[in-house]
Amino acid sequence: MLLTLQNFLSHSVDESIKWQSFSAQLNADVYVESPLEGVLIFRPTGNLPQQKHIVLSSGIHGNETAPMEICNQLIADIASGKLKISHALMFIFGNLPAIKQQTRFIEENLNRLFAPNIEGDSLEVPRAKALMQQVSAFFKDATGERYHYDLHTAIRASKNEKFAVYPHLHGKAHSKTELQFMSDCGVNTILLSQSATTTFSYYSSRYHDAHAFTVELGKVKAFGQNNMNDFVQADKMLRHLIADRELTLSAYEDCPLEIYKVNQVINKHHADFKLHFSEDTANFTDYCAGTLLASESGAKYYAQQDGEAIVFPNENVAIGQRALLTVVPCEL
Ligand SMILES: [Zn+2]
Repeated sequence: MLLTLQNFLSHSVDESIKWQSFSAQLNADVYVESPLEGVLIFRPTGNLPQQKHIVLSSGIHGNETAPMEICNQLIADIASGKLKISHALMFIFGNLPAIKQQTRFIEENLNRLFAPNIEGDSLEVPRAKALMQQVSAFFKDATGERYHYDLHTAIRASKNEKFAVYPHLHGKAHSKTELQFMSDCGVNTILLSQSATTTFSYYSSRYHDAHAFTVELGKVKAFGQNNMNDFVQADKMLRHLIADRELTLSAYEDCPLEIYKVNQVINKHHADFKLHFSEDTANFTDYCAGTLLASESGAKYYAQQDGEAIVFPNENVAIGQRALLTVVPCEL
């Protein structure tokens, strides 16, 4: 089992290994369990009142390698005893067939399927259901705070390389402490979502009352090609989160945060949907009011305010799906 945990990621995607669930006392301090392929739970042994329950997911998009490499190393270091744990932890490697093929998804974007009543025929639907079940079981007995950081890397470069999406809270207050944590991870651009979605982080936030974020840690690169120096701060803070009972964070006033809220959600309705900026335009590039951003049969989409910026543009999405978000600066 120790061998498995030294490289749980490759164990999870190795076709020559027939996967089996396991659970065992890892050492005097830690109990380990793998209830589902690509899912691993560590629990501190003994009675730790008010321990946190923390989910770290990666590989929800199969080609977003850096977060998987970070989590795989965290797992290895917990297994070897190098990294102590003070909280219950769940690691998830999301879309295993897509990770094997080094592609974003096989049939459908997994991160649009985290809805409790999801139905569909794609390969990804049963995986989304199974992961929701796992997260639900994990959070069920949590008496302390719950956390879910869903770790990604973006397809395109970003003017603000690291950024996080804060799911819509339906009137609950945003947590400044969480933004301090993000900032100390090197994630200083925060996007406040303004509506219900079917992302993994929204699922944990909405249905399990977790502090949850979709965290974009940089640009997509192949396994082995990530410069791990780009992720030092995030890695350090995740280790801090895992090992220490309490987090020590920079003061909110000292965090160089830039906060945005969504202004327009632009869905593709026709096959001729077209973006009016170049393919390699960085996320968070901003425009003057009146700039034509996208068009399709019967519709034109303009920047409505000065400083309105584009995020996640993708004219190749399926019809009916989101092709572009626009955001504007705001205060918490
Ligand atoms: Zn992603």
